[in-house]
Amino acid sequence: MTRLAIEASGIVQGVGMRPFVHRAATERGLVGWVQNGAGAVRIEVQGRSGDVRAFVERLTHGCPPPASIDRIVVREVEERYEASFRILGSLEGSERYPSIPTDLAVCDECALEVDAPGARRYRYPFANCTRCGPRFTIVEGLPYDRARTSMKAFAMCPDCAAEYEAPTDRRFHAQPIACPVCGPQLTLLSSERHVLGRGDAALRLAAAGVVAGEVVAIKGIGGYQLLADATSAQAIARLRARKHREAKPFAVMFPSLAALHHCCIVSDEEERELASPAAPILLVARRGGVLADCVAPNNPRVGAMLPYSPLHRVLSSEIARPFVCTSGNLSDEPMCTDDADALERLGGIADLFLLHDRRIVRPADDSVGRMGPHGLALLRRARGYAPLPWRLAERTPIVLALGAQLKSTVALAMHGQVIVSQHLGDMHGAEAARLLTRTADDLLRFYQVRPEVVACDEHPDYASTRLAEHLAKSLGVPLVRVQHHHAHVAAGMAEYALDGPVLGIAWDGSGYGSDDSIWGGEFLWCEGSEARRVAHLRPFGLPGGAQAIREPRRAALGVLHEAFGREVDDYGQRWFGAVDAAVLARMMERSCSTPRTTSMGRLFDAVAALVGLGEQARFEGEAAMALEFVAESVDAVEPYAVGLQPGDPLVVDWEPLVRAVIDEVRAGVPVSVISARFHETLAALAEDVATRLGAARVVLTGGCFQNTRLAQRALERLERRGLRVYVPRAFPPNDGGISLGQVLVASRRALRGGAPCA
Ligand code: ZN
Ligand code: ZN
Ligand code: FE
Repeated sequence: MTRLAIEASGIVQGVGMRPFVHRAATERGLVGWVQNGAGAVRIEVQGRSGDVRAFVERLTHGCPPPASIDRIVVREVEERYEASFRILGSLEGSERYPSIPTDLAVCDECALEVDAPGARRYRYPFANCTRCGPRFTIVEGLPYDRARTSMKAFAMCPDCAAEYEAPTDRRFHAQPIACPVCGPQLTLLSSERHVLGRGDAALRLAAAGVVAGEVVAIKGIGGYQLLADATSAQAIARLRARKHREAKPFAVMFPSLAALHHCCIVSDEEERELASPAAPILLVARRGGVLADCVAPNNPRVGAMLPYSPLHRVLSSEIARPFVCTSGNLSDEPMCTDDADALERLGGIADLFLLHDRRIVRPADDSVGRMGPHGLALLRRARGYAPLPWRLAERTPIVLALGAQLKSTVALAMHGQVIVSQHLGDMHGAEAARLLTRTADDLLRFYQVRPEVVACDEHPDYASTRLAEHLAKSLGVPLVRVQHHHAHVAAGMAEYALDGPVLGIAWDGSGYGSDDSIWGGEFLWCEGSEARRVAHLRPFGLPGGAQAIREPRRAALGVLHEAFGREVDDYGQRWFGAVDAAVLARMMERSCSTPRTTSMGRLFDAVAALVGLGEQARFEGEAAMALEFVAESVDAVEPYAVGLQPGDPLVVDWEPLVRAVIDEVRAGVPVSVISARFHETLAALAEDVATRLGAARVVLTGGCFQNTRLAQRALERLERRGLRVYVPRAFPPNDGGISLGQVLVASRRALRGGAPCA
């Protein structure tokens, strides 16, 4: 006889771990118990040694997805008499390795039940089991138990209670267990707040609304969403006008895999990700026809997703065509999660509101990813991924990092792991600032920790910076300000457990530079907690500053003025008319309202404007995206020349490149070829600088590397030279990864300075 005490941590709560353990033990005739602690399951098993060994083997290698164990501690303990194997109530109090379970897409078995006429949960939008359903968006505290979720408002009916108690049932201890008798219910309201239907009738009417071209708001898993018929240009135009979202692509939900294949070209690998428990939005190649073009104007790709909750599943089967499924907000505001707030803020957007009576405890947007050369790469990390912990290969004090300003996330490091929050959106306005504060509080409360260090961006005016300053002061702990592009590179170092030295190539739209100018075309030599700027783009002026983001031709004018002075006044006159062009020229000459920048994002804009693509942009990055897409038909091309002015840092002179682009436009070279050559130039630039500096390892990061062609070409050129290249995958290369990088830098600096280590 043997008795073992086992502690297993990883993704072990809210994923059917205890029923699995119970089955694995009773099948082998073992006695003992299993119990949830905060972030770990504790098990004691007793029986014949061979059976106990087989049990441990099964536990380590056979736990069913999405559960996964990444740490297991086993020790022998004294035998004692027990008659059976039991599931004990959860253990209260703090534990060392907590984890908050993430929301999981409907599993195959629940999907079958929801589709089966006569089944108890036929067409029930809130069916779930231990392997699927809401978690993160309903949980109020740890350990994860029904009493600490927003399901506590619903008393289980006898049938659900019986399933919940039966060790052999798929719903054994499924905390959000529900059925049409006892669980959450739907209600459909008109925009005047009249009740139009309840239950299944509400759902049918909502679906009919979408089919009829109306904009329908639904209360989803992690927040309100807006639905509209993706095959109707009129419906999409209505949604765009009301949401004040002129052209930014919308994601589309497809009712089935067949419908998806009909509209998009999807590989097996992509299909697997779409159907995974995280069920992200995936950017996939789009076929012509079916989808209205204005879903994603002039874009060869579309953000596709499959119905990931029973609610979406039943709705899509009724709608029976692809539909836009986008966050319920006005452009750039945080998503609505509260009913009253949704009815208020979405009142002018939606014709119908499909509500339910389960409270959403915290928002979680849909995640967005795409397939890269090494599998899924996330561009927005939220539902299904956040807030799963990321293990670091080093010790850390308790660090709270508040991120940047756009695509915000908050990160908390402790016990050698980082928890990065879900994507919170852009931090404009009071609503967003409150969400940031709430998210930081939420993480600290969940893990019951008090930060020893707070980290933020160097930008003095970010909402995140102000919150960090306030927190550091009120807690009486040090505040570490991390330069924006350094944080970008450090995020890559955290993901790949790098200490340095690495060459970080951080190219994005803008970040606050240590010399008070706007950086964005940076080469940083990073080692440990420090970074040195070893190369950057030659600076140019941006007449009108932030206005240039919406008007790429301003960036172009800035570049032209920098390189050629008045020699190119005709461009200004063509783009802005004689009067405005003269004003702009004067602004640039006097450096008035013309901040200096080394931004690669703005260089992209400038080149896009020079070749006649998007002199205006309706959202940030539109012109750069147009430039990427136009090159898709072109394969191998020669790069243009760029100058490298020696010095420390090296200065990358784009002037020869811009001159070549202008000449080729004049010579009538196709825009697709010019664009391909431009991309190739930047890839060659990465290669040049990396080899000149003798780098062995390179991190490619920043929003510009969301550009597939750029990332791919740079990767190939660097790898051909024998360099190791690291591209962010688990966390976005854009500002969504900044908090992770801040945590790493602040932690290393604190440890170097002898800060405490938890
Ligand atoms: Zn299920
Ligand atoms: Zn029930
Ligand atoms: Fe950035």
